Amino acid sequence: MKIIGKPYDRESLPAYIDSLQFKGWKPKGVTIHHCAAPSLAQRPHGFLSQHMLNLQDFYEGKGWSSGPHIFTDEDQAWMFTPMTERGVHAVSFNSSHIGIEMLGDYDTEDPWSGRGLEVLRMTAFTAGLLIDALGLKKDCINFHRDDIRTSKTCPGKKITKSRFLELIELQMPYFKRNSHGGSRFPKREFPFR
Ligand SMILES: [Zn+2]
Repeated sequence: MKIIGKPYDRESLPAYIDSLQFKGWKPKGVTIHHCAAPSLAQRPHGFLSQHMLNLQDFYEGKGWSSGPHIFTDEDQAWMFTPMTERGVHAVSFNSSHIGIEMLGDYDTEDPWSGRGLEVLRMTAFTAGLLIDALGLKKDCINFHRDDIRTSKTCPGKKITKSRFLELIELQMPYFKRNSHGGSRFPKREFPFR
């Protein structure tokens, strides 16, 4: 399994996403997941490089050829399966959606305060950049549990779609495309930090 295994923060992620060239596969949306395990409590300092290697081992052990595209924690988005290739994360959405896995277990941990909220904000930031770069709208965001072929609660019972979309909506003005076709990305005045 090929993985990237590198983290990007709010400063470096926009340029990285803008540099992607979608040729064979053009995603039509973004699917949001939570890891469940590891939970926030199990990763008190977020993800480290070693955790990406562990995840690679885990998915290879399942015999998967690829995995989710991105893992988010409270301040970084870790690139996993290259976004220019199809991933494996939700049966019905693998062929059409980028998969983002959030650190945390939002069946039990709180997504609306503290570290949970930081993870959601980082995820909304990442998803917002992606849908802007791909020329999509926020209704292209779905949840793993929207897949009729799963019984999972993913990304967690405590996360409602409307509230998650609000987090994206709040930052969309920062992603308006400029006249050159590129995006204007937030710098220091980003509203969430
Ligand atoms: Zn999931």
